[in-house]
Amino acid sequence: MRPNILTDLFSDITRLSGVGPRTGAIFEQFIGSRIIDIAFHLPYQTIDRSARPPLTVAAAGNIITSEVSVLKHVKPRNRNQPYRISCANETGTLDLVFFRAREDWLKQTLPVGSLRLVSGRVEQYRDSLQMVHPDYVLPVEKADQMPLLEPVYPLTASLTGNMMRKAAQGACAFIPKLDEWQQADWLNKMKWASWKQALLELHNPASPEVLETNSPHRERLAYDELLANQVTLSLIRSNRRVLPGIPLLGTGKSVAEFHTLLPYTLTNAQQAAIADIRQDLIEPKRMLRLVQGDVGSGKTFVALEAMLQCTESHKQATLMAPTEILARQHAASIGPYLDQLGIRWDILTGRNKGKPRQAILDKLSSGETEILIGTHALFQEDVTFHDLGLAIVDEQHRFGVQQRIALSDKGKDRGQGTNILILTATPIPRTLTLVAYGDMDVSKITEKPPGRKPIETHVMSMDRYEEVKASLARLLSRGERAYWVCPLVAESELIDLTTAEERYADLKELYGEQVGLVHGQMPNAEKDRIMEAFKAGEIRVLVATTVIEVGVDVPEATGMIIEHAERFGLAQLHQLRGRVGRGDSPSNCLLLYRGPLGEIAKARLNIMRETQDGFRIAEEDLRLRGSGEVLGLRQSGMPNFRLANLDEHAHLLPAVHDDARMILQEDPTLTSERGHAIRLLLNLFERTEALRFLKAG
Ligand code: ADP
Ligand code: MG
Repeated sequence: MRPNILTDLFSDITRLSGVGPRTGAIFEQFIGSRIIDIAFHLPYQTIDRSARPPLTVAAAGNIITSEVSVLKHVKPRNRNQPYRISCANETGTLDLVFFRAREDWLKQTLPVGSLRLVSGRVEQYRDSLQMVHPDYVLPVEKADQMPLLEPVYPLTASLTGNMMRKAAQGACAFIPKLDEWQQADWLNKMKWASWKQALLELHNPASPEVLETNSPHRERLAYDELLANQVTLSLIRSNRRVLPGIPLLGTGKSVAEFHTLLPYTLTNAQQAAIADIRQDLIEPKRMLRLVQGDVGSGKTFVALEAMLQCTESHKQATLMAPTEILARQHAASIGPYLDQLGIRWDILTGRNKGKPRQAILDKLSSGETEILIGTHALFQEDVTFHDLGLAIVDEQHRFGVQQRIALSDKGKDRGQGTNILILTATPIPRTLTLVAYGDMDVSKITEKPPGRKPIETHVMSMDRYEEVKASLARLLSRGERAYWVCPLVAESELIDLTTAEERYADLKELYGEQVGLVHGQMPNAEKDRIMEAFKAGEIRVLVATTVIEVGVDVPEATGMIIEHAERFGLAQLHQLRGRVGRGDSPSNCLLLYRGPLGEIAKARLNIMRETQDGFRIAEEDLRLRGSGEVLGLRQSGMPNFRLANLDEHAHLLPAVHDDARMILQEDPTLTSERGHAIRLLLNLFERTEALRFLKAG
């Protein structure tokens, strides 16, 4: 149902001249298989080929362009020597040098006596000026095939600049003129061109400045993408607002009983969050609330109370965790309370199969099960609730918008009446919360349950590995447990593994069977088995890649050692550190780095040493390094932006938010002229998930 005007843009890149099945496959692997993927793959710098100095004064190391006559071919005497072609013009001489080149090709491209335009980097070799493998060799009448300011694209080994430039030029021809979705006076104010013009100018840069991340053209496109994201989120939200919710009044009975069972009192922050939720549930609108609270701040009980208010109102509730381990942990920590309260609950994960699974589903659809805890497995088609009143998503940052919609669809009449509560431990700044979640209601838990021992954090060079091992030995002799986390290498899970495996082998030599290894490529059952062994104390040093689960709770663990801490996002370090300090003994966190550390890296690790306040860490990290780091790479639920870069374009966000709000206020069904343009925009960025909320128009 993509608008026709976008058909070409979304068609296969093999339509571009010069892109066949073989090159197509290379593009597909690195950039994408559609023309739009090429169009959105922007150059990041330029090579200036406008310099045409006299050859006698051309400085080695520079890129020059020159018109020369081909004088003579000098064949190499053996395979290790290059083929040389002597050229000259009235300003001097220039040798073109080719290693392992095909002679017939050279004879054809550079015949003796011909006049050629060549461009490339020159160097001095003995007495002569030479150009090794010129970037361009063209007959002079085809000079216009060489851009004076050549765009340079992000490339990979098998994708050459030439291939990319050709494809980009081809893609430009398919960029349609689209109705403008931005407002005329805003465009004027920002001095922004149309979408089409901005793209064309970026692929054909008139100056190096055009390509800077904050150039008008780049900002225009970033704004477009952010706007598409924001409108989508707002549509989801306003859809929820339009449809009335069913008030869940509760009786307060099971909540009160739960309080008598709980061995401690809830913190003020927990109570405040619960009060927010209670108010949302009582009102005849559907809740869409985010609870932000650091690891260990006690979000699980907040979730539990919300679920109790729901079951008191004779509706079902579900709590969804991102992993099997976390789902089981939730079951273990709240299951006993539910049992004592006489509430029928169940757990559903990918592990449940066949008959037992069917039994779980039957009890769920009949309404016998009141609370269901689970994982992604909850999304499956055949999982139907009798009457779902509340869906809670824990550690939301691993779920996307689409999944959130899918979950609310599990309610009656596709989500009518389903309240949504999201729990996240990623403390991100408000502007970024809006990007990730849209305009949701937010409750922050800023306080930890009492009695928490602070975690002493040290930053240390890996040169002191021996000392680290000695302190680990002391920790073990006290009967405590530790995590040892190995570096995150974003490019390759395999490299992750090598480091972790080496560390495992090394520590195993020292401490024997007490050492365990867990990593992302293990089968789930194996992962679970090892985590269980760590919980039970059979394993006491757990070497892990970054997979150690965000919420895993082992109070006896008092040591957190993180190798290559400088490579982690601070949010991630903060979350990892939150694995310890959950018991009665004081805990330690060692951040190991391999020097030398730059100023910013040093400052970042120092923040970790200074504070345990996740919100402060997030703000400081944003200040130092930008959003990508705050969010810990791909871990976060930030949408994947192709043109916008939150580090560089965050200043556009307030305007984007206002704009999105205004668009939907004035035209909630997107049927006005601008509304239709906005629909195009959503299609362009493939953010059409929420369009189905709108009636056809
Ligand atoms: P989060 O999910 O926010 O990371 P949890 O809900 O797992 O945190 O709680 C962390 C630990 O704190 C759990 O062991 C829980 O039993 C305990 N806890 C929660 N609330 C309180 C409280 N008010 N007082 C004391 N301990 C609490
Ligand atoms: Mg939790």
